[in-house]
Amino acid sequence: MLNNKVVLVTGAASGIGRAIALVAAREGARLILSDIDAHAGQETVKQVRALGAEALFAASDVGKAEDAQALVDQAMAHYGQLDVACNNAGIGGAMALLADYPLDAWAQVININLSGVFFGMKAQIPAMLKGGGGAIVNTSSILGMVGMATGPAYSAAKHGVIGLTQSAAIAYSGQGLRINAIGPGFIHTPMVSALEEDPNLKAALIAAHPIGRLGLPEEVAELVVWLASSRASFVTGGYYPVDGGYLAR
Ligand code: NAP
Repeated sequence: MLNNKVVLVTGAASGIGRAIALVAAREGARLILSDIDAHAGQETVKQVRALGAEALFAASDVGKAEDAQALVDQAMAHYGQLDVACNNAGIGGAMALLADYPLDAWAQVININLSGVFFGMKAQIPAMLKGGGGAIVNTSSILGMVGMATGPAYSAAKHGVIGLTQSAAIAYSGQGLRINAIGPGFIHTPMVSALEEDPNLKAALIAAHPIGRLGLPEEVAELVVWLASSRASFVTGGYYPVDGGYLAR
């Protein structure tokens, strides 16, 4: 599905980002993988290469505009093109009701989860247009559509990712660049493992998904890779849940 396409993935050292890298590798992509965790990022590179795909790792902080530009520059220097970008890195952030939410935690979540996607696309779009277009897939969340009492910053940031995605799609879809957002439900990754340790909370999370379980990173990656591929040639400006029915209630 992604034969020879150059695919950039942020947050590729763990969870959904690693799964995107592995599914894209299976589908023939050449990868530029990034994360703040260089050690675990190199482990993803190893797993990708074991599938016979080409990959390089570049440490980068999505919360810094200059890092986002340097990452795209590295992709262009190494591969000479950029076809797909998956702006996936994110954090859960502090959990507290709005009136108690710490100001520094708000700034951190908005910087990484929302400004990070803006910085990423701002650097990626000119490079992709040079090659005639491509596809961007931004990781929002079910909490980009609905709220969570203890996650006001996370939910606000993920709602913002959908607005950024739609605005960019309107601006660039006529130039061969498709831009979409995905909305995972609760997925088994290190980000939610702390929540899963409390058996009552875990049961409540499972009950919120009509399918009767949490999702797997690979199940999210399948959607991302399809959206990134030419099989999704008429799909742009959209938000696609992959949530076991969470939003259907
Ligand atoms: P994860 O397993 O924690 O992976 C996220 C990766 O991003 C980690 O390697 C993390 O490094 C890295 N990262 C954190 N801050 C970064 C920064 N400033 N710059 C670059 N990399 C950074 O989480 P995940 O569950 O795969 O989440 C991936 C994306 O899916 C996030 O945007 C998340 O909001 C979204 N999402 C997740 C779920 C879920 O239930 N898991 C549901 C909906 C949406 P460290 O580990 O060192 O922090």
